[in-house]
Amino acid sequence: MKKNQRGQSEQAIRTRLLQAIFEQRMPPGARLTEEALATTFEVSRTTIRLVIARLAQDGILVKFPTGATHVAAPSRNEAQQLLTVRRMIEPEIVKMLAASASTLSFTTLTAHLKEEDRARRSGDRGTLVRLTGEFHLHLAQMTGNEILIRLMTELQTLVCLAILLYASGDDACPPDEHRKIVAAIKENDGASAAALMLGHLNHIEKDLRLDDKPAVEITDALTWLKRKERSSAGS
Ligand SMILES: [Zn+2]
Repeated sequence: MKKNQRGQSEQAIRTRLLQAIFEQRMPPGARLTEEALATTFEVSRTTIRLVIARLAQDGILVKFPTGATHVAAPSRNEAQQLLTVRRMIEPEIVKMLAASASTLSFTTLTAHLKEEDRARRSGDRGTLVRLTGEFHLHLAQMTGNEILIRLMTELQTLVCLAILLYASGDDACPPDEHRKIVAAIKENDGASAAALMLGHLNHIEKDLRLDDKPAVEITDALTWLKRKERSSAGS
C-alpha cells in the first residue's frame, strides 16, 4: 500500500468496524484479534494496531493485559452515566443549531430521516440502531465544534452498545421524535428543540430498562464468598 493512502485506509477501517459494531455483527464483548483484522482488511498489523489503539482510546474497544481486545460492553451503571452526560450536552447542541438555523443546510439530516424510516419499515434492528445513533452525530457535526463531535462520537457509540445489550423495545430511538426535533430547530425554536431532546433522551433511558435487573456487583460476590469461607471454617 502507498504511504499516502495509509491515513485514509485507517479511517475507512475505523468506519467499517464501527458499522459492524452498531449492526451487531460484532456484538458487545466480542473478541477481536489483530491478525484476523489485518487479514480481513488486507493491511499490515501495524495499521490495525493503530486503529485498535484509537478505538480503545475512545472506550469502544477494551484491551486486556493479556493482549486480547474486546468490543466494549458497558455496564448498566455506565449506561446510566453516559445518558446523564448526554442530557447535559445534547439539549445545548440543538439550542445552538436552532439559533443559527437560517445558515445551516438540512439536506443530510432530511435524507438521514428517510433512511431511518426505511430501516424501521424493514425491521432491520441493527441498521436502525446504527442510523439512530448517527442522527445524534449529524447534529453534533452541524455545530462544527470538533471537541463536541469527538465527545459525542464516544458517548453515542457507547450508548449504542448499551442499547444492543439492554434495550427492550424494537426502536432504538422512538419513531417521530427525531423528526420533531429537526422541525423545532428549523423553526428557530431552541427552547422546544431542547425540551424535545431531553424528553427523547429520557425515552431512550427508559427503554434501556436499566432498573429492571440489578447489575451484578463484584462486591456482592466477594461478600458471598467470604460468608461461605466463614461457614466452612466454622463447621
Ligand atoms: Zn435519537
